Amino acid sequence: MAASPALAQTATPSPAPAGPTYVVQAGDSLYSIALSFGLTVDALQQANAIADPSLLYVGQSLVIPGYENISGVLTIHRAEVGETPASIAQRFGVSPELLTRLNRLTNPAMMYVGQPIIYPEGNTGIPTGRAVAVMPRDSVAALAARSGQSVWGMALLNDLASPFAAYAGQQLIIASDAPALTGLPQPLLALTLKPEHPVQGGTLEVAAQALDAAVSGSFGPWPLRFADDVGGPVALQGIYALADPGLYPLVITATVPGGGVTVFEQMIPVADGSYPYQLLYVGEEQAALLDPAVVGAELGQVTQIVSPDTEARQWQGTFLQPVQSDRVTTGFGVRRSYNGGSFDGFHGGIDWGATGGSPVVAAAAGTVVFAGPLTVRGNATIIDHGWGVYTGYWHQFKIDVAVGQAVQAGDVIGAVGSSGLSTGSHLHFEVWVGGVQVNPQQWLDAQFP
Ligand SMILES: [Zn+2]
Repeated sequence: MAASPALAQTATPSPAPAGPTYVVQAGDSLYSIALSFGLTVDALQQANAIADPSLLYVGQSLVIPGYENISGVLTIHRAEVGETPASIAQRFGVSPELLTRLNRLTNPAMMYVGQPIIYPEGNTGIPTGRAVAVMPRDSVAALAARSGQSVWGMALLNDLASPFAAYAGQQLIIASDAPALTGLPQPLLALTLKPEHPVQGGTLEVAAQALDAAVSGSFGPWPLRFADDVGGPVALQGIYALADPGLYPLVITATVPGGGVTVFEQMIPVADGSYPYQLLYVGEEQAALLDPAVVGAELGQVTQIVSPDTEARQWQGTFLQPVQSDRVTTGFGVRRSYNGGSFDGFHGGIDWGATGGSPVVAAAAGTVVFAGPLTVRGNATIIDHGWGVYTGYWHQFKIDVAVGQAVQAGDVIGAVGSSGLSTGSHLHFEVWVGGVQVNPQQWLDAQFP
């Protein structure tokens, strides 16, 4: 015989809520919390006897059902560049097994940057990321560098007779105020991305530090061409504006002088650029310039000019807007359809409307590698800034520079016009990085590297 609900209620006093808790953060909703923990909104609402989800408040403690044998406060950490499930487990003092189970990580290699990783705060008894084992080919110096400590401080803390005396497998203590170790394998020391969240049509800067090793790598389909900067090797790469948003593998390879190779791979999300759509209608004479054979050949010619990596970097700081105007007539990335055709192209630069004859200036220091008339782009100038970074200036009335000429940022290089496939007086300005057209606005706003 089944007990009636009323009887069951009187027979057993309601026990303390089973399971761990989660503290509501700013920006959370019942739905987002349920999603993070793989629950339904209903299950979360029931476990916490919430009648009105709109009354959720920041700092409220919620019971998270379905996490048996785990107690304490569950916290969500967003995976950072260079982290692995193992390094996150170490950072927060959680066993890797628990972290894998909590987060249903079937394939740790698929963890992506920004992925929410749940961990229980302070219930494990494992010291938080402070004891670390010396890896084969590792050294106290490398460990000290990775954890931001001095070699001698570390030797002192661990009672080492000499900082060179550590052996593989030895457990060393890291000062409690040292930053968390990354999940990077030896000899990689640090890995940073700028911006942290790359976007279609954007520029990605990858900085990698390694101890006495050469760094190479790739991001999605693009090889990363590292150049030596003051702070270490840096690579700049454009992300094609029509590339599918989603996860792209970042692969970093460190090669030591003896030939030993270490590979670190991590998935990085590329966000949708949310570029608008634009229908354009042009007359017969202009439409003739849209012949795919003409357009394709000219794009091939330009792509070839902007493909080589010149070793020396010539620019410093942010780029200058190349024409005085506050009137952007078409932004970068706009999906375009000409005369009712398909949206298979995009606007590869920024158009500024300006009076014909207005001066056009170099956005940054560099060397002129093209100056002359093109069918679609009109009177065009291309400047090489080094490291695979180029700028292009199209539809000019006249060109004031010649191939081979060195220019400084702000030098007048020509005048605004409407030559080529253009419907009015304007300057079309492009930035190419690693053979890919990127949003110039990013270069006007931020400094690379
Ligand atoms: Zn344009």
